[in-house]
Amino acid sequence: MTDFLTFRTVDEMRTQVATWRADGLTIGLVPTMGGLHSGHQKLVTRAAKKCDRVIATIFVNPTQFGAGEDLDSYPRTEKADCEIIADAGGNAAFVPNVSEMYPDGFATTVKVSGLTDMLCGATRPGHFDGVTQVVSKLLNQAGADMAFFGEKDWQQLAVIRRMARDLDIPTKIMGVPTVRDDFGLALSSRNGYLDAAQIEVARQFNVILRKTAYDIASGGLATDECAKAGQAILDAGFERIDYVECRDAHYLELIDRVEDQECRIFAAAYLGRARLIDNHSVS
Ligand code: AMP
Repeated sequence: MTDFLTFRTVDEMRTQVATWRADGLTIGLVPTMGGLHSGHQKLVTRAAKKCDRVIATIFVNPTQFGAGEDLDSYPRTEKADCEIIADAGGNAAFVPNVSEMYPDGFATTVKVSGLTDMLCGATRPGHFDGVTQVVSKLLNQAGADMAFFGEKDWQQLAVIRRMARDLDIPTKIMGVPTVRDDFGLALSSRNGYLDAAQIEVARQFNVILRKTAYDIASGGLATDECAKAGQAILDAGFERIDYVECRDAHYLELIDRVEDQECRIFAAAYLGRARLIDNHSVS
C-alpha cells in the first residue's frame, strides 16, 4: 500500500495521469461503487495485466438509484476497498464526493435509447441514464486507454459500449467474465444484504438459469423455458421475479427460437432486501 494514491478531485487524477503519460505508460480504469469483492478484484487484476497503471474509482452514484432503492444503505468501505485494489495490482483510487462529480448547476444528461428500454431499464426507469451520465464523466476525467466492466451487468456493458462508440470516446471498453462463488452465485455487493438461509436460496438462481439456457439451446422455445424458470425461481424461495428472458447478446432483442445467433438468458429477481441479476450464455 506504500505507493498507493488516492485522488479526491478530478484535477489530482488528471495531473497524475499526465505524469504517467509523459513517462510513456498506459492507463486502465475500473469504475465501481465500492463495497468491493473478488469480482471487482478480477477487474483490477485484468486491468493491471493489460495496462501499466490502474485507477479504480469508488463513487456511489446517486443519479443511478431510483426512489426507494438502497442509495443510503449501499456499503461504503473505502479503506478495505483500497486494500483490495492495491492487492490486485491497482495503483490508485479515485474517490470523489458528490459535489465534485455534480457541481451546482449540473445540467447534462447522457442517454442511450433502445438498449435501455428493456430488462433492468424497464423496471428501474432512469437507472441507465445515471450510469451513462457517470461513466461518460469518468471516462472523460481519466482519459484512460482501457476501461473494464463486468459481464455480470451484461446490459450495462452493452449500453456503455454503445455510448462510447456513439460519442467517439477513445477509451477501449473491455468486458470481464462474471466471478462466482463455489456454488455459481455471482458475487455482488448486494449479496451482503442476505442471511445464511437466503444465500442458500440465492445459489439456486444460477443453477436454474444454466439449466434453462441448456434447455433453450437444446431446442426448447425460449418463452416456455423462461416461464418455467420463473416458476422454479419462485419455488426456490425468491419473492418476486422482475424478468427472465432470452435475448440476443449484443442488440438485446428478444429471441424465441435460438439458431445461429449469440444469445443469453437474463434474469432479475428479489430475495429479502436484495435484487439479484445474472445472465448466462445460451449455447
Ligand atoms: P458495482 O460496484 O456493482 O457498480 O460494479 C462495478 C463493476 O464491477 C461493474 O463493471 C460490474 O459489472 C463489476 N462486477 C460486479 N460484480 C462482479 C462479478 N461478480 N464479476 C465480475 N464483475 C463484477
